[in-house]
Amino acid sequence: KRQTIVAANWKMNGSFGLVTEMSQGLADLQLANDVSVVVCPSAPFLAALTDALEHEKASEHISVGAQNVSEFEQGAYTGEISTSMLQACKVQYVILGHSERRSIFKETSTQVAHKVKTALDAGLVPILCIGESEAQRTAEQTETVLAAQLQPVIDEVGIERFSHIVIAYEPVWAIGTGKTASPDMAQATHQFIRKFLADIDKDIAAKTPVLYGGSVNAKNCEALFSQTDIDGGLIGGASLKVDEFKVICSAA
Ligand code: 13P
Repeated sequence: KRQTIVAANWKMNGSFGLVTEMSQGLADLQLANDVSVVVCPSAPFLAALTDALEHEKASEHISVGAQNVSEFEQGAYTGEISTSMLQACKVQYVILGHSERRSIFKETSTQVAHKVKTALDAGLVPILCIGESEAQRTAEQTETVLAAQLQPVIDEVGIERFSHIVIAYEPVWAIGTGKTASPDMAQATHQFIRKFLADIDKDIAAKTPVLYGGSVNAKNCEALFSQTDIDGGLIGGASLKVDEFKVICSAA
């Protein structure tokens, strides 16, 4: 059985107040045995979130994640944050290749692949985001696009290391739009992703969690999470509301 993960991507939202509120809220959360929760705030809140979860004696199934990391180790890279800095904040996961990083900040799949390697080498678990745009889906290019996003990472780190990678499938047209992929459509795409990996290594494919992201909320999460190849979710907007996020975690 694969690990199930519900991850909160706060994006450029949140505050020290939300850090406290979320930590308190998650402290009494009842999670199914194989479920892990990862909260990914902006970098200035990482250390505070770690401290607050410790203070609340939150379960060890609740971890802290970052939203990005530098592909460089250290040095003259103004504005960048290194893997060792994340580790100093006891961060365990890092979201990489989010569509907002790809489209707004022009991160290429090659750069994302370097970041995945840097994160893995440092012992962080990458949450590797992939997903097609609306135009690409309409043009029936979804599978080609997903393959083109996965292949550079496979080439860079090797398929074996996917046993330490979490994939998040986020159709760009479903992000922040309220337009979720239907459970059937999401399942079909997740199945494609798993088959793409399985064609290279069956055992790894069977073990790699593939999360769904894009307008997941308290109402639609159950139908999505019950699909065979959906192993949890990456939650944006709904992860900023503690009560709703808890409902989503409990549905996993
Ligand atoms: P929303 O849940 O707000 O659509 O965002 C999804 C997302 O991009 C998570 O990384």
